Amino acid sequence: MSWEYHVEMRPAFAWDCPECGTRNFHAGEQATAEEVAEIEVDADEVSNTGAYVWMPEDVTCVACGSTYRTVHWGEEEEDE
Ligand SMILES: [Zn+2]
Repeated sequence: MSWEYHVEMRPAFAWDCPECGTRNFHAGEQATAEEVAEIEVDADEVSNTGAYVWMPEDVTCVACGSTYRTVHWGEEEEDE
């Protein structure tokens, strides 16, 4: 174990591929200060560093290449 370096932890989204079961991670894209000011954000959703990240609209599994549209955790899928 090396204590020589620190690594910077960033918010990310985790999801499990329905096709192959692989757990995938997708780094969130940090919102700008202007974007955060424009949207109504609950205080609980903003970290103590003020970071707020956007969820990707679609993701691709690193193992099998399947692509999916995304919904927020606990949200129902919308029919089109
Ligand atoms: Zn997969």
